Amino acid sequence: MSPINETHDRALASWLDAANAPEAAFPIQNLPFGVFRRRGGGESWRGGIAIGDAVVDLAALVASGAIAGTPGDALAHAAAPGLNGFMALGPAAWASLRLALSRALRRGAREQSALGACLVRQSEIELTLPAAIGDYTDFYASIHHATNVGRLMRPDQPLYPNYKWLPIGYHGRASSIAVSGQDVARPLGQTMPRGATTPVFGPSRRLDYELEVGVFVGPGNALGDRIALDAAPAHVFGLCLLNDWSARDIQGWEYQPLGPFLAKSFATTISPWIVTLEALAPFRTAWTRPAEDPAPLPYLDSSAHRAAGALDVGLEVWLQTAAMRAAGAPGVRLSSSNLRDSYWSIFQMLAHHSVNGCNMRPGDLYATGTQSGPAPEQAGSLIELTQAGKVAVDLGNGETRGFLQDGDRVTLRARAARDGFAGIGFGDCSGTVLPARA
Ligand code: MN
Repeated sequence: MSPINETHDRALASWLDAANAPEAAFPIQNLPFGVFRRRGGGESWRGGIAIGDAVVDLAALVASGAIAGTPGDALAHAAAPGLNGFMALGPAAWASLRLALSRALRRGAREQSALGACLVRQSEIELTLPAAIGDYTDFYASIHHATNVGRLMRPDQPLYPNYKWLPIGYHGRASSIAVSGQDVARPLGQTMPRGATTPVFGPSRRLDYELEVGVFVGPGNALGDRIALDAAPAHVFGLCLLNDWSARDIQGWEYQPLGPFLAKSFATTISPWIVTLEALAPFRTAWTRPAEDPAPLPYLDSSAHRAAGALDVGLEVWLQTAAMRAAGAPGVRLSSSNLRDSYWSIFQMLAHHSVNGCNMRPGDLYATGTQSGPAPEQAGSLIELTQAGKVAVDLGNGETRGFLQDGDRVTLRARAARDGFAGIGFGDCSGTVLPARA
C-alpha cells in the first residue's frame, strides 16, 4: 500500500504559482504523467508531468542532468514517447522519481532554474496516448449501474446471481482508444427495431456515454501466475477517466450470448494524464459492502483491502451541445458520483482478472464500468438517467436529450478531496459526437 509521505504534505507549495491555486487540478501533490509535444512543430512525443498550467518536459529534464542517480534512471524511462517501460519499473522507481520531482518543484528548490527551463505551457501542447495499450478490459463494478440497467431489461431480477461473487468484465478493444479531444463518428450497425423480425442497418440512434475510471497496469505477471489481492496495488501505476461510448441499440441486438462487441469497439476516450496511485494515497478509504451481502471469496478479500481498498474520487459528467457551444455556454453537469461507491475495487478487479493465470503487461488498461451512485440522479450514463430514452433530460436551455445527438460534447471530470490534504484533479476527458460517415 502506498504510504502517505512528504510528497502529499498539504503545506507544500511550488515556485510555479499556478500550481498553488486552491482549485488547481495539478498542484505539486499530484504530478500526473502524460505523453505530449508542442502543437504544430513536428516535435517528437515525450513524457511529461503536469504542474499547474505547465508541463515539465521530461526529455529536456534528462538532457539538463538536473536529476541523477536512482530517480534519474526512472526519469530516463518516463521521458520516452510511451510510458510502458516506466510503468514496468514498479513502485520503488515511481516513488523515487516522484520524490525528486516534488523536491525540485518546491519553493526554494535549488533545481528551480534547471526545471524552469524545461517547462512548456499546457496551452501550447497536444497530448497522445500515454502508453501503447496492449489489452483493454472493461468491468461492470458499480452495483448501482448494474441494477439500474438490469431493471430496464429484467424488472424481476435486475442482477444476475453471479454479480455479488465476482467482478463481471469483458475484453474490450485497444485499437480505438484515444485521448481527450477525440471526435467520435456515430457508428453504423445492425439494430432490431421493437416488434420487427428483420434487423435494419444504419447509424445508431441510441448513442450513449459511460462514466468510468481507467486503470493502467504497472508491472505485469507471468502467464500462469496470478496477482494476489494484497499485491495488486504494486501492479497499479495510476488512474485516468474513461468514456466507454456505447451504442445501446446495436448492443441490445448483438450482445447475446457473448456480450458487447461492435456497440463498444468504435471508440473509447481517456483523459491524457495518469494520476498515480501514489498521488491518490490520501484518498484510499475503507472497502465495505452491506452486511446482508455475501463476503467475497478469500482471493477477493483481505484485511488490508478492507482497510484501504476503495478510492474516494468525485466524478462528474458534463454535456455541451452544439447550440450551447455556438452560444458560448460551457455546458451543463448531467450527474456526479464517487468511485468509493463501486461494489468491486480496482484491486479486486486485477486479482480476479489474473486468478486464472492470465498475464497482464505494463501499459494494459482496464476500466471500472460505469460508475453510478446510489441515487437515481447519480447515474453515469444516459440509458439510466432517461430510463432508456423514455424520460428526456432537460438541459435548461430549451433542449432535452434522450440519447446523444450529433455535435454533443461529453466531458468527464474528477477530483479527489479530503480534509487535511491538497485536492487533486484528473483533467478533462472530452469527446464530440460527429455525424455518421456516409
Ligand atoms: Mn462500460
